[in-house]
Amino acid sequence: MNIALIAHDAKKELMVQFCIAYCGILSRHDLCATGTTGKLVSDATGLKIQRFLSGSQGGDQQISARIACNEVDMLLFFRDPLSAKPHEPNDNNMLRLCDTHNIPVATNIATAEVLIHGLERGDLDWRNIVNPSR
Ligand code: PGA
Repeated sequence: MNIALIAHDAKKELMVQFCIAYCGILSRHDLCATGTTGKLVSDATGLKIQRFLSGSQGGDQQISARIACNEVDMLLFFRDPLSAKPHEPNDNNMLRLCDTHNIPVATNIATAEVLIHGLERGDLDWRNIVNPSR
């Protein structure tokens, strides 16, 4: 499965801890991330991650483009609900595209835990039928 990781600044440490905790599961999938999130996670875990631009430079839009093509099977997007971001409209569009394609998305760690366990259990195997190339 293709899993995309994005964390706002206030949630980056949480994303790193999450990825350390679930490194074993994540290592069996193809990972991509916005620039800084990807660097922090790969430095901490050694996971191989395709890194896009930083979110503020358009990395979130690069991931959105993959989502629009239904090429992402799960999005873990740890949002900071307390501070507004200049690129917030892009975030909303990204979530809209996930809804368009029924792509499982978590915007906080509680939901991310549920999704990662579901992934491990095979609950998302239907995505292989949607995208048989992977
Ligand atoms: P970053 O981007 O991982 O490059 O910091 C995330 C964001 O803030 O959208």
